[in-house]
This record gives sequence, C-alpha cells and structure tokens, in this order.
Amino acid sequence: MNIQHNIQLKPYNSFRTEAVAKLFCEPKTVEELSNIVRHYPTEDKLILGGGFNLFFTKDFDGLVIHPQMKGNNIWYEDENVIEIESNASESWDDFVAYCVANNYAEVENLSLIPSTVGAAPVQNIGAYGTEVQDIITLVRTVHLETGETKDFTNEMCEFGYRDSIFKRSGKYIITSVVFRLSKSFTYQEKYVDVAQELEGVENPTLMDVRNAVVKIRTRKMPDYDLLPNAGSFFKNPFLTYKEKENLLKQLPNATVHFVNEDCFKTSSAFLIDKAGYRNKRSGLVGTYEHHSLIIVNYGTKRGKDILDFMKEIQKDVHSQFHIWLEPEVRIY
Ligand SMILES: Cc1cc2nc3c(=O)[nH]c(=O)nc-3n(C[C@H](O)[C@H](O)[C@H](O)COP(=O)(O)OP(=O)(O)OC[C@H]3O[C@@H](n4cnc5c(N)ncnc54)[C@H](O)[C@@H]3O)c2cc1C
Repeated sequence: MNIQHNIQLKPYNSFRTEAVAKLFCEPKTVEELSNIVRHYPTEDKLILGGGFNLFFTKDFDGLVIHPQMKGNNIWYEDENVIEIESNASESWDDFVAYCVANNYAEVENLSLIPSTVGAAPVQNIGAYGTEVQDIITLVRTVHLETGETKDFTNEMCEFGYRDSIFKRSGKYIITSVVFRLSKSFTYQEKYVDVAQELEGVENPTLMDVRNAVVKIRTRKMPDYDLLPNAGSFFKNPFLTYKEKENLLKQLPNATVHFVNEDCFKTSSAFLIDKAGYRNKRSGLVGTYEHHSLIIVNYGTKRGKDILDFMKEIQKDVHSQFHIWLEPEVRIY
C-alpha cells in the first residue's frame, strides 16, 4: 500500500488551483483499492479522475484516491453489438477513438470530452444530443466505507441531466464501466452544429462525425493548458411553466426547450450574457470570450477567487431574472 503525504493538487485539476492533500494514493487494482479504503475507515475521502470538473478552495484534510486502473476487455459480442469493459483510469477520448476506429457506433458525439472513463457516469457526460447513459450497461464500484464491490445496472445508476446516483451519494468509487456499442451505423442528424459541420459530406462515416465534433470543440473551447478551466461551469436551468413565461416576458429571445408541460430548459450562457458577464473579467478570473458559460483562470492560484466570481454571477442572474444557476463543476 503506497500512501503519499502532503501532495500538491495543482497539477491534478484543470483550473490549476492550489491545495494540499494530507494523504494521496494511486491504487492499480480493485483489491489494492479495497485494502486502502478499509485501512482508513475514518478519513474523509475524495476520488480524483482527470480533475477536469472540479477545483479546490482549501487543503484536503483526508485521503485523495487517484485510481490508476487501466485496460479494456471485451465483455460480450455478437454480430450486431459489442460490450466493452473499460477500466476507470482510461482516457475517455482514447476510448472513443478506439470505438470509432473499430466502427463501433453510438459514442462518436462524445468525442474530445476531457474525462477518465470512471468519471463519465458520475455526471452522465453529454454533448451534441448524446449522453453516456445511452450506452452504459454496467458500472462496477467499490464502496468508499466498506471496501466492498458492487455492480450497478443502468437502471440502478439513476441517471439524470448531469447527474447520477454516484454524484448524489458520493459513496462509490467506479472501477470500470461496461459500454454497449452498435456494430452498424447510419448517420442521423442529432445536433444542428454537427449537421452544419458535415454539410457536403455524403453518407458521413463514424470517423467523419468524430472529426466534425473534434473540429467544433477545438474551435469553441479554450485549451485548459493555456487558459485553465473546467468546461461549462453551470448547469442549464429547468423552469416551471410560470417561470418560463416570466422569463420570456423579460427576454423574448431566450431559448427555451420543452421538457414537459411544466418543465422547460433554458440556456445558462444566454442568462449570463444578459446579466452583463460576456467576456467579463474580475481580477484574475473571468468568462471565456467566446462562451460565457466557461469561467477561465487568468492566473490565480486561489480557488476562492473562482468561487467568489461564481457567486457574483449567481447573484446577478438571480436578481435580474429570478433564476438560480447551479454549478456543474464540483467545488472542494
Ligand atoms: C474544456 C472542457 C470541456 C468539457 N466539456 C464537457 C462536455 O461537453 N460535456 C460534459 O458532460 N462535461 C464536459 N466537461 C466536464 C468534464 O469533462 C466531465 O465532468 C468529466 O467527466 C470529468 O472527468 P474527470 O476524470 O476529470 O473527473 P474529475 O474532475 O476528476 O471528477 C469529477 C467528479 O467525479 C468524481 N469521480 C472521478 N472519478 C471517479 C471514479 N472513478 N469513481 C467515482 N467518482 C469519481 C470526483 O470525485 C468528482 O466529484 C468539460 C470539461 C472541460 C475542462
């Protein structure tokens, strides 16, 4: 059991905020992970994947677990589908690239999302009309307190918009995920940006779709190595019918998507823009010039600066439009 002490977490989060972990470990197998968890029953524990969806506002007085479980294996295969078990620390985009290269469909729209495989179910990553819940058959875990293993079927994961039982309970370490991919592919238009990028391409292949998504994302998203960030900072809010009507009275151009008769989804980026935060900077933190939903770090080491800026945005959006924006990013 290799446990390190007083480890600086700055390299382990894409916002590059500083914080020290009292204890830090990198288990390579499920057995090693279970042993560590049982050895430290009373320590607070934090699981760290690639650190692309979190930042630190203070030191972590507990045990940071940074799994290092690698590898993929075929779980099931017939002439129509293949199920692949991928271990938690595999790079998500390497997994997508592998599927596309082998003509396994359904995952191509999730290209280039910075993530480990193990974190993908946590917030049910999604983009361009696809969510990872659509292709998950099993999530394999270890309980953070008992060290016992438990498998979750898709239904048991209680997936929602950027949500799952793993995010809500915080009690399970995902050690591997089984994905079900289709061996046949016919292009279907799922998202207007991707369709535009593919204009003129006849019968797009999986690789065409992946390349289109990669192009769009590279254009739209800041490079976190140059401008540290964690992608979309806030979730898009859901509104009741009455809230939606009030919003449209104030902002007739607001985009509103029908979910059901009393549930509508609107755009956080639009509200943030309208509240006056388009390309706005406050000290060493600001909104990204091409996308207001992304908060970028212009050089602070303090997570508190990002937290303060987040609170400013929440307060202003709320006072102007009576809508409270919930962060998608995890704050520790
Ligand atoms: C530039 C950029 C673009 C992005 N675009 C998108 C996008 O299009 N769609 C989208 O959905 N997200 C997007 N994100 C957010 C991010 O990619 C996802 O949230 C991703 O799943 C985070 O993966 P990670 O391995 O870095 O997890 P981390 O940030 O390390 O962890 C995130 C949460 O998951 C928990 N966790 C991590 N690993 C495990 C595990 N093995 N078991 C249990 N819990 C675990 C952590 O404790 C934490 O609470 C983007 C981020 C960036 C920086």
